[in-house]
Amino acid sequence: MKIIVVGGGAAGFFAAIAAKTTYPQASVILHERSNQVLSKVRISGGGRCNVTHACFDPKELVKNYPRGSKELLGPFHRFQPLDTIQWFLEKGVALKTEADGRMFPVTDSSETIIQCLLKEAQRVGVEIRLQSKFTLETFDGDRLILATGSAPSGWDIAKKLGHTIEPPVPSLFTFNIPHFPLESVAGISLNRVRLELEGTKLFQEGPLLITHWGLSGPAALKLSAFGARYLAENNYEVTLSIDWLPQFSAEELTSLLTQEHSHKKLSSIRSLPLPKRLWNLLCEGEDQQINRMSKSTLRQLCEKLKRDRYQVKGKTTNKEEFVTCGGVTLSEVHFKTMESKLHPGLYFCGEILAIDGITGGFNFQNAWTTGWIAGTA
Ligand SMILES: Cc1cc2nc3c(=O)[nH]c(=O)nc-3n(C[C@H](O)[C@H](O)[C@H](O)COP(=O)(O)OP(=O)(O)OC[C@H]3O[C@@H](n4cnc5c(N)ncnc54)[C@H](O)[C@@H]3O)c2cc1C
Repeated sequence: MKIIVVGGGAAGFFAAIAAKTTYPQASVILHERSNQVLSKVRISGGGRCNVTHACFDPKELVKNYPRGSKELLGPFHRFQPLDTIQWFLEKGVALKTEADGRMFPVTDSSETIIQCLLKEAQRVGVEIRLQSKFTLETFDGDRLILATGSAPSGWDIAKKLGHTIEPPVPSLFTFNIPHFPLESVAGISLNRVRLELEGTKLFQEGPLLITHWGLSGPAALKLSAFGARYLAENNYEVTLSIDWLPQFSAEELTSLLTQEHSHKKLSSIRSLPLPKRLWNLLCEGEDQQINRMSKSTLRQLCEKLKRDRYQVKGKTTNKEEFVTCGGVTLSEVHFKTMESKLHPGLYFCGEILAIDGITGGFNFQNAWTTGWIAGTA
């Protein structure tokens, strides 16, 4: 049997290695159009490669995929982050976990992952062909595994074979806010805020980073992922509101200020979990003793702390990790095998599918899981 794998990225390598390991008699040929394989692995995670995430319950794991969560539940019961850790460990590569759950090679170098995949592909006997752009016309195999990531040429092949492609739009970006009123406190990060896209049900709670041009950090990136389609449809011009203190309701906040701090000036309140410079800026120069403030001024301040609105215009690509929302429609694929429902013998894995995860190692986990399943099938 001749198995053709198209795309020398994370998914293509995992699929090719799994196929050759499962069917040693088969000839497995991996085509890569460029002159080097695994280029995204190399630049991933700021050069450290965030291989996976320390989340070992498939039901919890799928919550990190704005698209594909339902379909990945079965596959994650067969190959999940524990299997990824084990797979690399068996090949001599140990992973470590950071405080936020992200997992990296202990060497902190993506090169370790690249060398491991290259060595394993060579050991089992995968034939790698570089500068070999695959087209359907040149196909001469028995099975075809498409692992072309977000390359339009891969989607064109899938389309020619009758598959539907959900329009690709970017995911995982930060929000630009022109004339940003918080620019003077750029660099401040907060552990917990709630971001909401006004007029939608889309919100995220988590850490936020204030930058010179807008909002970044995990909560912003997550919101960009879950809102990727809505944001694209609205040309990245939306109203975003920030709840600076999600741990308090508006009533709790008002009574906290009026009861516990009534004799204090606003600037001398220290018990709220907001950095002083940001707190002063949010108070907009208002620095009276609280019991001397009018009710409406106090109410306005509390309202602002709970619903501080900003006009987003545009986005900035996140350098650490970005991904494409869209791709081969999931209802056209069997997730037990990753085989096409339209074309027996055709398989998909990785980012070519309309699956994407939030930042944190979830996108590679999708590549490892679906690649492994396609290869073994
Ligand atoms: C800057 C950056 C950092 C990232 N960091 C992380 C991270 O730390 N953790 C994480 O989980 N995710 C990360 N991601 C996302 C992750 O890299 C992707 O989700 C993952 O690489 C997808 O793997 P893939 O194999 O499906 O596709 P790709 O890695 O894109 O590989 C597809 C390959 O197919 C080749 N190809 C395309 N068409 C053809 C053709 N017709 N013939 C032959 N070859 C073809 C391409 O040249 C490419 O090499 C990052 C992404 C970026 C851009």
